[in-house]
Amino acid sequence: MKSPRTGRTAGESPAPPSVVGQAVRPPSPAKLPKGGVKPRPAVLAMEPYSPPTGDRADKLRLDFNENTVGCSPRVVAALKERISAGRLAIYPDYVEAKQAIARYYEVAPEQFTFTNGTDEAIQILVNTYVDDGQEVLLLKPTYAMFRFYCEVAGAKIREVEYPRPGVEFPLQAVLDAITPATRAVLVANPNNPTGTGISLTAIERILRRARRAVVLVDEAYYEFSGVTALGEIGRVPNLFVSRTFSKVFGMAAMRLGCLFSHPANVAYLRKAQSPYSVNALAVMAAQAAVADEEYIRNYVAEVLAAREVLCLGLERLGIPYIPSSANFVLAHFGKRAIEVRDALRERAILVRDRSYEIRGAVRITVGTRRQTRELMAALETIWRR
Ligand code: PMP
Repeated sequence: MKSPRTGRTAGESPAPPSVVGQAVRPPSPAKLPKGGVKPRPAVLAMEPYSPPTGDRADKLRLDFNENTVGCSPRVVAALKERISAGRLAIYPDYVEAKQAIARYYEVAPEQFTFTNGTDEAIQILVNTYVDDGQEVLLLKPTYAMFRFYCEVAGAKIREVEYPRPGVEFPLQAVLDAITPATRAVLVANPNNPTGTGISLTAIERILRRARRAVVLVDEAYYEFSGVTALGEIGRVPNLFVSRTFSKVFGMAAMRLGCLFSHPANVAYLRKAQSPYSVNALAVMAAQAAVADEEYIRNYVAEVLAAREVLCLGLERLGIPYIPSSANFVLAHFGKRAIEVRDALRERAILVRDRSYEIRGAVRITVGTRRQTRELMAALETIWRR
């Protein structure tokens, strides 16, 4: 019998993406149906980006830099209390949440827009300021979504490499790479996957040099580093700062971010943004999350203590790592990177191989001290065999 929903006969369902170890095999280049329409050249030219997503729920998830214990219980309670059939029927109204979140970040409601994760913040920034063929400046390696949205937009991407092995921020090289043709500079502070940060003074130098470009400072891991450019948005006209509820707030599933800038810039961003891209539950949850500051403070303190445990443990095993300002550490497992990752996975511990960016590098999310000790016990057995 044919399904009324898909028109397919039962048993004909399309194959799910296959999970191989941790990586989802990227879809092979799709064959167009006869008479099918080709996508834009920019999309044709893109490499598929398929982060591993399956089979993570029952594992110790040290692979995606999430909060490893979950959001404040107050978030779940607020959602349960406020969800109703009537509320779900209404398009989102952001007014109340906007005021609460503005108070939390000490900005005016006109100085930011809610976004569907940081990902949408990057997307609307690029869509608002960068035309097909225009130049953007990125670092390498950095957050994959920077390149992703620039590629979708058909931008010309220039990259400055982090120097090896230290991967400190290559400030002079970035300043030298900024030209009158640069339309946007996208920086993560601290950076993913290196974990290394950049000072506010260095950011100001970039802002001054790139006066004719927009500069995004992605502060997804701000709470762990304490360095922020958010206080400068009222003063510096080309500065944009993004924050997310996916990391310290433990709400990655909700997909909520904020993109901050001067109110005039924010008004333009809003023009290029779908009016309801953020769902009502996400902003409800965020209101409850920012009301529980103690939960966040405690989690940050726990992670910083656990990061010490992890780094000391790595040193004891003679595994080199990059000192981090975030809730993850990039460790150098060399030729054993894949073997170690897979052996940890067999013990239900997930870490993220980054060999495709820095040879032999594995990124380890820092959770609690207890979780870190569990990881180190497993790692020690694997490493010494
Ligand atoms: N920015 C950076 C630098 C990140 O590493 C991540 C997490 N992978 C994010 C943003 C999170 O994005 P989102 O808010 O869309 O979950």
